[in-house]
Amino acid sequence: MSSSGPFLFCPYCRAELEARRIPDPNGPERRVCSACGFVQWGNSKPTAAGIVEDEAGRVLLARRVIHPFHGWWDVPGGFLEPGEHPEDGVRRELREETGLEVAVEHLVGVYMDTYGEDGGEHILNFYYACGVAGGTAGANDDVGELAWFAPDAMPERIAFPSAQIALRDWQRQRQRQRRRQKENR
Ligand SMILES: [Zn+2]
Repeated sequence: MSSSGPFLFCPYCRAELEARRIPDPNGPERRVCSACGFVQWGNSKPTAAGIVEDEAGRVLLARRVIHPFHGWWDVPGGFLEPGEHPEDGVRRELREETGLEVAVEHLVGVYMDTYGEDGGEHILNFYYACGVAGGTAGANDDVGELAWFAPDAMPERIAFPSAQIALRDWQRQRQRQRRRQKENR
């Protein structure tokens, strides 16, 4: 499985593409078709993931059965469909991968990462704090196993550096929220 690198030929008219720095001569190089004007613009691919907490304060992680990070624990989520809001994406992915209906509580943050081998492609990840709204957790799709982890007893190998940062941020936000709740009591 290779990531989507630059096209060599125009996907519309099959002419060979040229590498050109447009519109900014100092900007990134793009593949351009001088026959029909096609330009391969690059973007980071958006994903949405859910940090789902149960009533005991544990976090749901899924063991990956696909590359990259085969066998590692992961925050459930996936690539967005065209036109899909990341909040809808996270609900859909969680339903597909875990069988759970989740309630999106807040955006933890937006994190950059890469996906795939040889550097992979750029991804832009939306991480949401979620609660369980219904359903029963059971591994589906590209997930081998599901398990709930206490925040202070997380597995050592968690896939994607961005997920580890998001989990740390989520924990910090959660502690802050608990402190505030205690102060208001
Ligand atoms: Zn063309």
